[in-house]
Amino acid sequence: MNRAQRRAAQKSNKNGKKSSKEIDSTMGMFDLLPDQCSACLASYDKKDKQMVTTWNVVVKEEEKVVRLYCPDCWNTAQRIIQDVRDSDAE
Ligand SMILES: [Zn+2]
Repeated sequence: MNRAQRRAAQKSNKNGKKSSKEIDSTMGMFDLLPDQCSACLASYDKKDKQMVTTWNVVVKEEEKVVRLYCPDCWNTAQRIIQDVRDSDAE
């Protein structure tokens, strides 16, 4: 396998893993925003300023899916992601 082939293979493996930082470019997707946490189903109020600033939105553009996470679930998810990164680091 040459360099270019390997890079292409890695790219295809990463489908579906999008960072929440891409939200800015996909404002239209906010129509799909759920009204509850996608993990624990705690209810979300779009008009609550504190919720809007502390909850986290994950947009999967290709699948037209928007997920919403309360701060607790988000922190848990971040810890898991960090663990995975640490074990991938070698
Ligand atoms: Zn939650």
